[in-house]
Amino acid sequence: MSFESLGLAPALLRALVEQNYTTPTQIQAEAIPLALAGHDVLGGAQTGTGKTAAFGLPLLNRLAKQTPVKGFRRPRALILTPTRELAVQVSDSLRGYGKHLRMNTIAIFGGAGMGPQVDAFRRGVDVLVATPGRLIDHLERGSVKLDEIEILVMDEADRMLDMGFLPAIKRILGKLPKDRQTMLFSATFEAQIKQLALEFMRNPQQVQV
Ligand code: AMP
Repeated sequence: MSFESLGLAPALLRALVEQNYTTPTQIQAEAIPLALAGHDVLGGAQTGTGKTAAFGLPLLNRLAKQTPVKGFRRPRALILTPTRELAVQVSDSLRGYGKHLRMNTIAIFGGAGMGPQVDAFRRGVDVLVATPGRLIDHLERGSVKLDEIEILVMDEADRMLDMGFLPAIKRILGKLPKDRQTMLFSATFEAQIKQLALEFMRNPQQVQV
């Protein structure tokens, strides 16, 4: 099994070679073809399994089909994470995978000033990685609109629910276009996660490692 055989764009394959990724991990081998085919994906995976590339590569592959306009543009992909640390880690990983694409990825999270985040939105964003509470703050201020989101990822969904983010997540999901691709990754699948998937995903394909 190789990344070439999964059907990813050459610019992504080049970045993977440069980062010494030779073989897809199990979650990548299973999730990437499903996501590239346009399915919603429900992934059971812990940190360390390579789940970031499992959702990040098909996400970037999809965005790369359309060259971003220069200057201001609204985000087309949204990744929700439970913590600031994970938001930073995910955005760093996506910048690495997308280094040969002209995609602007930003991370926004609580505990940091609003001003620089508002400025970042003004410069134009393709991929937005955000913690739910801070994203709500920006939505209330009108500093970002989510009406062009084509892909939503909920990363570590069980941790987001443990942290009490369910109401914020539901408010955010209510602002997204219905016609989109959704991926949800979680280490565990309690009733609330299943309910979230049932309510906000379309015929999700399940992958488990
Ligand atoms: P993650 O579970 O996404 O946090 O990834 C865990 C670590 O594995 C990170 O340091 C990734 O850069 C690395 N990684 C992910 N996929 C691969 C791969 N296919 N080959 C080599 N390293 C990888």
